[in-house]
Amino acid sequence: MNIKVLQKKGVLRFVLEDSNPAFANALRRIMISEIPTLAVDRVDFRANNSILFDEIIAHRIGLIPLKCSPEKFTVEEECKCKGKGCVSCQVVLALEKTGPCMVYSGDFKSSNTDVQPMDPRFVIVELLAGQSVKLEAVATLGTGKKHMKYQATNASYQYYPEVEVKGDISKLQTKIENACPKEIIKIIGNKATITKPDSCDLCLSCEEVSGGTLKITGNPSKFIFSVESVSGLEPEYIVKKAAEILGEKGKEFIKELGKL
Ligand SMILES: [Zn+2]
Repeated sequence: MNIKVLQKKGVLRFVLEDSNPAFANALRRIMISEIPTLAVDRVDFRANNSILFDEIIAHRIGLIPLKCSPEKFTVEEECKCKGKGCVSCQVVLALEKTGPCMVYSGDFKSSNTDVQPMDPRFVIVELLAGQSVKLEAVATLGTGKKHMKYQATNASYQYYPEVEVKGDISKLQTKIENACPKEIIKIIGNKATITKPDSCDLCLSCEEVSGGTLKITGNPSKFIFSVESVSGLEPEYIVKKAAEILGEKGKEFIKELGKL
């Protein structure tokens, strides 16, 4: 197995080589649904005479990604406080504003300074003169499996494109190159190269105009991954954590096998 990083800034893109679809898909699914993150789960309203109902404001707050270190928290159900609520399983974000003003995610006062909205500019509600909101939002630890607001990332992969020349393509250069909607196939002599493999959708447009001289396939042991964080977690952390969780599952399985 081998990993080659294509892009680190923003969306993490990397090539996973010498692997198989089962492993790639397990990694992708864990990244999407099993990485613990913090998100607001309950909101207690003390006051709200804004234009938006309590439920809508609560829903908007629930979707705000929170910067946090999930390792420092426990899920409420497994916490030593037995569900009463403590600093290990809950973070309280308090909000109090009176209009006229715009209420932003940056207006929250967090009970844990390490836990803050990912961006202070998410708009929650606009208050007119005489309107106000006062609330306490409780953030808890969860995973995408429980609710999509806890989802850490969008993760996907595509098969690495492989090009095989099966005849004389030297006279078809312009036709083949023009057929590619992404303009990423180059023909030099009788050699074909995909210049940006991570941009190839395997649309086969080039193969279709080649009259059987070109064959494009997706390599089932080589994958291009894209990991775009939609939470307060870094994509590198998400990939490492997913591998760790997969490893734990293997260990647990071996342990259970021992009972046979
Ligand atoms: Zn607790």
